[in-house]
Amino acid sequence: MLDQQRDTVNAAVNEVLPHAIKMRHHLHRHPELSFHEEQTAKFIAMKLEELGVDSLQTSIGGNGILATITGLQGTGPTLALRADMDALPIQEEGESEYRSERDGVMHACGHDGHSAVLLGTAQTLCRLRANFAGTVRLIFQPAEEVAAGARAIVDSGGMKDVDAIFALHGWPGMDVGKIGIRPGAMMASADTFDITIDGRGAHAAMPHLSVDPIVAGAQVVTALQTIVSRETSPVDSVVVSVTQFHAGSAHNIIPGRAELKGTVRCLTSELRQIMPERVERVVAGVCGALNAEYKLNYRFGTPVTINDERMVNLVREVGAACLGEENVVQLEWPSLGAEDFAVYLGHAPGAMFRLGTGAAKPPLHTPTYDFGDEPLKPGIEMFTHLALRFLRGQSAA
Ligand SMILES: [Zn+2]
Ligand SMILES: [Zn+2]
Repeated sequence: MLDQQRDTVNAAVNEVLPHAIKMRHHLHRHPELSFHEEQTAKFIAMKLEELGVDSLQTSIGGNGILATITGLQGTGPTLALRADMDALPIQEEGESEYRSERDGVMHACGHDGHSAVLLGTAQTLCRLRANFAGTVRLIFQPAEEVAAGARAIVDSGGMKDVDAIFALHGWPGMDVGKIGIRPGAMMASADTFDITIDGRGAHAAMPHLSVDPIVAGAQVVTALQTIVSRETSPVDSVVVSVTQFHAGSAHNIIPGRAELKGTVRCLTSELRQIMPERVERVVAGVCGALNAEYKLNYRFGTPVTINDERMVNLVREVGAACLGEENVVQLEWPSLGAEDFAVYLGHAPGAMFRLGTGAAKPPLHTPTYDFGDEPLKPGIEMFTHLALRFLRGQSAA
């Protein structure tokens, strides 16, 4: 990266930073749950209009926003940058002066930070139009926490003509000024299942007259774990978690039905594809042996987030140039958490990276988490440089 370009970008970032901080505080104060991001979207659209983006579309896939900024150096490819906007149903316990004003709702996943980073980047790129060729598409996505927003944006044409896409997620446990990334699997797929086990109710003192769905369900829960321990290679990763088990209504009644729900996480699409068959075989076998009936509803949710190697290298190069080589962390392991950013990666190569929000920060999705102001600068720097690098590198080639 040329020193001159770095200075130009630095100056632009420093100029927009106070505004980005203010915008984050506003978003943090007014969190909205998935599918209800109306005021958030209104605020973001208003800011984008003020900045003078070239096009602005609202109500995309619900409360989503698409905006474009076109460079002045001629035609070139389209790069998408994505931020999510929704908050979580948690009562904030933080002490900041901008803490949530909405009871029971807060930005516990830091999506206020992601949106502020993207708004700040919009501002730098509007100022740096003369420095790139091509188009930057800004995607403000609703409903990430319920894994629905990305699909809605894509179904509304949000990825049409996009050549590459990047996103970041604020990461507690990592110092501010550091980023983390890995090629290939970055986050897991997240699929869900519902199992209904029908037996026959009876008096608890006369179990021989029943077909006990609790006993069958308990064995289903433990047998499902053998998919992980006995059917999957020990060097592969899969998680099967039964997270709900509902049955019964009294101490002395064997109920007629048990309902189980849970999630399956994988790091490869291949393994993911064969999991429904494995789950069904175990459920059918156990229920059959115990004379119970079952119904299985298995739903594919979010795919595996698979970072493109070339795009990961671009993130690393840009990270080394603007944050320093020592601040680009090569992640050894993916997370078995899921991110609906994966959906975009089915339509264009791209990469998601972690942006450090502080080594001592509380974990994501907890009542005292706060993205903070400090990560905004490295976040805006990364996005701005990625856009400039991608949109010039490609057109020069
Ligand atoms: Zn989250
Ligand atoms: Zn999140």
